[in-house]
Amino acid sequence: MKLLIATDMEGTSGVVDWNHVDPSKPEYARFRKVMTANVNAAIEGAIRGGATEIIVSDSHNTSTNILIEELDPRVSALNCGFRTNVLMVEGVDQVDAAMLVSFHARNDTPNAILCHTFTLNVGNLWVNGRLAGEIGVNAAICGHYNVPVLMVSSDLAGCKEAEEWIPGVETAVLKRGNGRFAAECLPPEKAQELITSKAEKAVKNFIQGKAPKPVKMAAPTKMILQFTHSNEADGPSVLPEYKRLDATRLEFEGKDILEAFQRFIAAVFLSH
Ligand SMILES: [Zn+2]
Repeated sequence: MKLLIATDMEGTSGVVDWNHVDPSKPEYARFRKVMTANVNAAIEGAIRGGATEIIVSDSHNTSTNILIEELDPRVSALNCGFRTNVLMVEGVDQVDAAMLVSFHARNDTPNAILCHTFTLNVGNLWVNGRLAGEIGVNAAICGHYNVPVLMVSSDLAGCKEAEEWIPGVETAVLKRGNGRFAAECLPPEKAQELITSKAEKAVKNFIQGKAPKPVKMAAPTKMILQFTHSNEADGPSVLPEYKRLDATRLEFEGKDILEAFQRFIAAVFLSH
């Protein structure tokens, strides 16, 4: 059983401030270590549950966060470094199932630590009319490859979002937000024990045929992207792929979720 573990950073227990996840800030060094340990906890659980091959995808910022020297050597590969194809779930075309570790809720979610949707200039994103964040979009990209998401670790808000998108998914709640920048957090060892036990259960269920279904989006797939400021829509709106709905919103379509997502990423690049 081949598994992809994609990891973001904001959902790590203890992370409550942008300083914790920003490589230019001294606090970042602490939390990339905790982030790596959380990935190792998921690897441990997945192997106990019966996974035979594991690929890890580093998916925060420029994807250069995991301390490879501390990564469990039982993984077959670490995908790291800046990329633009499937972005956060790099390697999804090679696996049977996936897990999302240290993910966070979509922008504008109450009591969700550092909630945002891919970048800070994205106000909201609708996929086929449904508000979506990184958990929903990545679950749908996995679904495009027929890959179910078995387990998500996040704060309580992120785990609720995961359950809405992926009925039956195992969740590991590592912290409870009290606003966007404050939370009640599990100590790292307890967080890691929880991740390990949920990952083990999730893989066992998958092997027994009890996994959640892959998340499927109807094709063609329509997106509406709302930027935070009107100037951010100016760049992409000159291209025929993007229809400008108003000052901040662009509408566009892809033949499937993957093409729509790549157009979303291109619009974000053109927004700066
Ligand atoms: Zn993120």
